[in-house]
Amino acid sequence: MKAIANKVVLITGAGSGIGKSIAELFAKQGAHLMLSDIRYNNIEEVAKEIKNKGGLVSCYPADISKLQDVESLIDYTLSKYKSIDVLVNNAGIMDDFAPVEDVSDESWEKIIGVNLNGPFFTCRAIVKIFKEQKSGVIINIASIAGLTGGRAGLAYTVSKHGLIGLTKSIAYQYAGTGLKCNAIAPGGVETNIMHDVEPNPFGYSRMNAGAGNMPEAGTPDDIAELALFLASAKSGFINGAVMVADGGWTAY
Ligand code: NAD
Repeated sequence: MKAIANKVVLITGAGSGIGKSIAELFAKQGAHLMLSDIRYNNIEEVAKEIKNKGGLVSCYPADISKLQDVESLIDYTLSKYKSIDVLVNNAGIMDDFAPVEDVSDESWEKIIGVNLNGPFFTCRAIVKIFKEQKSGVIINIASIAGLTGGRAGLAYTVSKHGLIGLTKSIAYQYAGTGLKCNAIAPGGVETNIMHDVEPNPFGYSRMNAGAGNMPEAGTPDDIAELALFLASAKSGFINGAVMVADGGWTAY
């Protein structure tokens, strides 16, 4: 029996890296997928590959930091599949490692907009649906930067701490309603997240001072396997948890 057969799963940021791996693994496990990303071409490509292998998948473009896009995405998913069983808040962007004094208003708003406002918008909408269904799973892709102070710049660190707070508050307040909400905190993973980053020299050197202890980077598939566990019935008693997957980096 497949772990999440016929479950409707909405994944944000599904066009690359961790989100793409989650989409591919969940498709193999029988999920009915709604892939979303700000870059539509990328999710179309992922969806094409999944369809070629017999998966059930649809895609919809959305900038997760825009409330209107999120509302349209949820409406479209419901019109397509009638329900949503699992939400994976994966879309996210890295900052430039800047310390507090160098964070521009524009950068703060962008990072908080995508990494924290986006998951807030999706969670607020989805919890209403999950309450009616009396079931539902939220998986928030946070980061070890949400548990520590030295793995990114100020804005990213704050956004991921906030995402962990969002996770715990939802988990606690809706415990016993059939809803579970957990976070994954990856360490370094080989993806495209660093693609456009121009590092702030001071912040980057502070971050790198601890990077010598970093084990090899993980793969997006490492994180997808954990997401599958959290989406499946096997993790039924896990709620409000932050599951670290960093090869031991924060164990030091
Ligand atoms: P990635 O850049 O490969 O993928 C991120 C995806 O999010 C991209 O497809 C991008 O187009 C999409 N996206 C960006 N802004 C968006 C927006 N406004 N609306 C919708 N989609 C948007 O990076 P990744 O490493 O796969 O990142 C996935 C998640 O994992 C992020 O939340 C990231 O913070 C988290 N994470 C990554 C690492 C790592 O080392 N790669 C470590 C810890 C946490």
